[in-house]
Amino acid sequence: MAAPTLAIVVPCYKETEALPASLGTLLGLLDEFAAEGIAAPDSYIMCVDDGSPDATWSVIEEWHGRDSRVKGIRLAHNRGHQCALLAGVDAVADRCDAAVTIDADLQDDPRAMRAMLGHMADGAEIVYGVRSSRESDSWFKRTTAQGFYKFQHMLGLETVYNHADYRLMSARALRYLRQYGESNIFLRGIVPQIGLQTAVVEYPRTARTAGETHYPLSKMIALSIDGVTSFTAKPMRWIFTVGLLLLVVDIAVALWVLIAYFRHATISGWASLMLSVWFLGSLILMGLGIVGEYIGKIYTEVKHRPRYALRDELFD
Ligand code: UDP
Ligand code: MG
Repeated sequence: MAAPTLAIVVPCYKETEALPASLGTLLGLLDEFAAEGIAAPDSYIMCVDDGSPDATWSVIEEWHGRDSRVKGIRLAHNRGHQCALLAGVDAVADRCDAAVTIDADLQDDPRAMRAMLGHMADGAEIVYGVRSSRESDSWFKRTTAQGFYKFQHMLGLETVYNHADYRLMSARALRYLRQYGESNIFLRGIVPQIGLQTAVVEYPRTARTAGETHYPLSKMIALSIDGVTSFTAKPMRWIFTVGLLLLVVDIAVALWVLIAYFRHATISGWASLMLSVWFLGSLILMGLGIVGEYIGKIYTEVKHRPRYALRDELFD
């Protein structure tokens, strides 16, 4: 079997500092893979400039001029990491046998791609990169990130623990991914739903080589909420459950109110008010929960917005 053409998809937002070194490393790695015969010599890097306001696109153009294996697309507007990733895999899906997505700062060890290609040769179509340690991350980043996974699991979201968006997907898996028409994209939730044969490669996560994180807590929370709201209606179901629990509590409340009433220990009107407040409260919550179920469905059905627009393209 011929070695697969590999496309390395790199989302870049304000990465002028980290990108040159990263591209050098990745090109070197592609040379090694070609020499070892585990990836075809026409394997390439697809940089996705996520509407960076700085000189990121100039860096990509410059490197493309130097080595045509560095290719690029540029989103017209900053659409966020997930969208940039999707734009990248969309662009390469028909022009490669497999694509690996990796962050521009190479915090996720690019050498793990060798093992990923190995698993692919053994038939895996999706290979997840999983961080074996996060020592290089700050305590805060580590704790919030771990909390993020735990929260998702609590809500019944199927994600791979300690896997971010460093993964290899075969061309076929990429085409399946395309069929997900939703615009609230949370790849870590979608990819496990595709199925196909999967494998896991562990690697230690290192510190950012240059520049600074563009994933502050606010963006992590936004991603977390996106992940939850686009994959599970559980929070809405909780509203219903709370309503149901209150209905049970109602029985105790009703008993207490009736006892107080018959002991003549109440002022007039209190008993009827108490009973109706508790009963109606639980009914309203349950009603909200039921309406919520439908709204949740409508929400996921309706959002067929285009995800991104291309501003420039370097594809030759
Ligand atoms: N990124 C992007 N769009 C954004 C923010 C980030 O494409 O709006 C890219 C960024 O260039 C990097 C990757 O997403 O390649 C991960 O970002 P970063 O390294 O800043 O996050 P962290 O590793 O700290 O979670
Ligand atoms: Mg990073």
